[in-house]
Amino acid sequence: MIEPRPELSKLSDYVPGKSMDEIRAKYGLTDVVKLASNENPLGPSPKAKEAYLKIVDTLHLYPRGDAPTLINALADFYGVKTSQLVLGNGSDEIIDMVGKAFIRQGDNCVGITPTFSVYKFTTLSNGAEFIGVGEGDQKTDLNKLAAAINEKTRVAFICSPNNPTGVYYTGAELKEFLDKVPSNVMVFLDEAYSEFATAEDYPRMFDMLEKYPNLLINRTFSKIYGLAGIRLGYAVSSEQVIKAMWKIKPPFDINLAAQAAAIAALSDKDHVKRTQELNAEGIKVLKPFFEGFGFKVLPTQGNFICVHIGPKAKEMVQFLEENGMIIRGLTSFGLPEHVRITLGKPEENKFLMDLVEKWVKG
Ligand code: PMP
Repeated sequence: MIEPRPELSKLSDYVPGKSMDEIRAKYGLTDVVKLASNENPLGPSPKAKEAYLKIVDTLHLYPRGDAPTLINALADFYGVKTSQLVLGNGSDEIIDMVGKAFIRQGDNCVGITPTFSVYKFTTLSNGAEFIGVGEGDQKTDLNKLAAAINEKTRVAFICSPNNPTGVYYTGAELKEFLDKVPSNVMVFLDEAYSEFATAEDYPRMFDMLEKYPNLLINRTFSKIYGLAGIRLGYAVSSEQVIKAMWKIKPPFDINLAAQAAAIAALSDKDHVKRTQELNAEGIKVLKPFFEGFGFKVLPTQGNFICVHIGPKAKEMVQFLEENGMIIRGLTSFGLPEHVRITLGKPEENKFLMDLVEKWVKG
């Protein structure tokens, strides 16, 4: 028998949101809506679709692994050097590359919890320990995260806006944290949902990269750009960090279609604006709706809301699912009484509200 590495025994399987096909088949439904995976309800950017279709005759060719056109477009977009950027097959792969390049057996990584599960997964799969610091659905002071760092710490993970709570950190809070963190500890700032943030003090952290070479900003085309299916994420950091990540990156993992679609999506300001407007509308409607039934809605800066339903949260998720509405119960995040709901189109939000009302009224 071929034994896997011992680290693997500590890993639990990733629990993705349920798919619409799965629910259609399970309950014999035709109308199913999924507001469970923080996808863009408007679909992909139309410009990205057009670019995607155009490359169809070149599918027999290998992509340029270094994706120079996309890298140049991103460098221009953010005002950083091309040598400060690396791409991943989804930002999941960015996290994976950080693990491979920087996390050693016996190290530890720290992170604010509850949060996106892949930070812990990557830490454990590289033989390190994950130390979560958190206060349930409340915002955790970054001083507590700083206090958890010790001589074995390699990476501090912060997700802002945080999945699943929607909590964010200001520039002042992050700067104070960065000032405390030893320069040999990477601060992995996951900004997957940054484009949805509307708070005036939500920071532009690219300006801090020069002062803090241990800062890495993680972003994705999966959310605001509506391209989760093509798998494209990217990281911006100091040249030395980025160089190490290119070294361990699989050579052709950023495919032709992803490169073409992302370049087009980046310039599609209209699609971004429409998505942001739809998101703001969704918050405006769903927040008072849930609060009207006495449920606590956490303030969000993402494209989802986190709602405290109480001990019957699982029952509500099940009821919605049986009726064709998929949302995300948060037991696997350590919040069994909460649910996370992606903000949808008006008709999808209405479908959700009608079902929730039906459930509440029994
Ligand atoms: N970071 C966060 C905070 C996420 O919620 C997700 C996906 N839900 C990811 C990263 C990974 O996204 P992707 O691999 O699609 O870029």
